[in-house]
Amino acid sequence: MIAERAISWVLTVAAVYALLLGTYVVSCIAVSRLNRRLAPVKIQARDTPPSQISRDRKQSLVSLAAIAAMFGTGHWLYAEFGWGLAPAEGLAGTILSLIASLVLFDTWFYWFHRLVHTRRFYRLVHRWHHLTVTPVVWSNNSDRLLDNLFLQSYWLVAHFLVPAAPAVLLAHKLYDQITGVVGHSGYEHGGVWCLPPSPLVGVTHHDQHHRFFRCNYATHFTLWDRLMGTLHPEHDSELKRNIAATAAAKRAPRLPAE
Ligand SMILES: [Zn+2]
Ligand SMILES: [Zn+2]
Repeated sequence: MIAERAISWVLTVAAVYALLLGTYVVSCIAVSRLNRRLAPVKIQARDTPPSQISRDRKQSLVSLAAIAAMFGTGHWLYAEFGWGLAPAEGLAGTILSLIASLVLFDTWFYWFHRLVHTRRFYRLVHRWHHLTVTPVVWSNNSDRLLDNLFLQSYWLVAHFLVPAAPAVLLAHKLYDQITGVVGHSGYEHGGVWCLPPSPLVGVTHHDQHHRFFRCNYATHFTLWDRLMGTLHPEHDSELKRNIAATAAAKRAPRLPAE
């Protein structure tokens, strides 16, 4: 019995790792291709050194394993022992539980992110991620293990916090994985759905976090940053500028050589 449970835990974590790694690689390649057409409107003029990109790629393999271990363990405890809240039923329950998980994770991320930016934790926990000042798609999961314990441990306990079905949490995690990669891409891919009063973050939000450091701590929405006064003062104006620049670059005719 114990051996069977151990095997099911290993298989669960391995399946989550394969899914997260596959999503990371596919979304990094897909967004890099989209970036090519937008070369003139790159948010930061600075280039990221190849050695830094390679560091971020390698570290992501480790970080994603840590996230898979937490997500997989949370799911395994729920599936094997029924640990956690029963899922909300019906279509409305599914949608509401997804929204609740998005808001809750954003809250978790915002406050723990602020904590790891304090003098006490920064060097040991979070500095690694910020050594890449001009992020690229591959930078999304370049974090130390300790950093993941703070920011990503939500996935270990999510079933105790939100009455969500496993498929809802998985859909949320994949959304987080893809938007995280887009958010580190260095090009504003957000459209009108990211313009205020929409609460959704565009790429500019986290790009400013890497550039200016003490602002824009949330991950899905701008709500907490607005509420706590941590949104960069020029966030909205730069976002509008970057969205307009991307739209203009997309409208521009392609050169025959491309
Ligand atoms: Zn940070
Ligand atoms: Zn980042």
